[in-house]
Amino acid sequence: MMGVVVVGSANMDVVARVPRIPGPGETLLARSFSRGGGGKGANQAVAAARAGGVETAFVGALGSDGDGQSLRESLTGSGVDMSVVAQSGEPTGTALISVADDGENAIVVVGGANADFTALDARQQQVIGAADVLLAQLEIDADVVLAAAQARREGAVFVLNAAPSQPLSEAMWAQLDVLVVNEHEAADLAVALGAPDRELDGAVDLLAGRVGSLVVTLGGEGSLVVEGGERTRVPAVPVTPVDTTGAGDTFVGVLGARLALGDSLVEAARWGSVAAALAVQRPGAQDGVPSAAEVRTAYT
Ligand code: ATP
Repeated sequence: MMGVVVVGSANMDVVARVPRIPGPGETLLARSFSRGGGGKGANQAVAAARAGGVETAFVGALGSDGDGQSLRESLTGSGVDMSVVAQSGEPTGTALISVADDGENAIVVVGGANADFTALDARQQQVIGAADVLLAQLEIDADVVLAAAQARREGAVFVLNAAPSQPLSEAMWAQLDVLVVNEHEAADLAVALGAPDRELDGAVDLLAGRVGSLVVTLGGEGSLVVEGGERTRVPAVPVTPVDTTGAGDTFVGVLGARLALGDSLVEAARWGSVAAALAVQRPGAQDGVPSAAEVRTAYT
């Protein structure tokens, strides 16, 4: 049995710190430069594996290049089973990120191997079929996500983090067990379903009418869990953020791991918020994900 299987993207994040975001045609000198593991799928897999006590596998695609090799090694080092990751003829996905002094950022994502990941092979389907919890996001082809949901065993929980924003097909809605979105994605989905405006309360009601379990993350305000018509606010842990990149992914990955351990959705969201609060105090996406011991110590 595999506790959590994450189906999604893996990127090398290439980050330049710049005084400000350059305008069209402008060249700026960076203050500093760093590289680190990213991509929503890989980030969530690292978070689930580091949560501890849950076997975690990643299903995605990497290029046959140095970045692919280095991501494969770092995810394996975090305890993620990478044995069914596809080897693509395309380069490993890359995110070109500029972060300005005022915190503003500009990001260009080169899909590469992630964009080339258009079907599940038999081994990947087998691993997905053994999962207790299937976690996915929308940085890869939505048809692959749908096929993964359809390949899960009866009783396995399908958690979709519907990010980046895009409308969901009826077939996808029909598969969902748990939908996790931030407030912008919640409003986008609600508008796509016919909401008259982007107001959060109305969006939550509309989405909760379509899916059994809903989690809306609210950044430093925590999150809202809606299940069986009941709304529960899960507070954020008050901290001073250094870099919020990957906060959402840490939250979702840990939430998935805790569901696989048998926690309720509210309990799982509490663990997710403790882990995410640790992550925002460190730079980097995967580099910022805390260990199980750190999360246990912080969880009171
Ligand atoms: P991102 O795309 O930046 O990774 P997101 O928009 O998907 O994030 P958020 O709602 O920003 O997700 O954050 C997810 C969770 O992380 C929140 O519900 C909260 O528990 C935690 N979190 C985020 N920002 C903070 C913060 N400043 N302080 C404490 N906890 C935070």
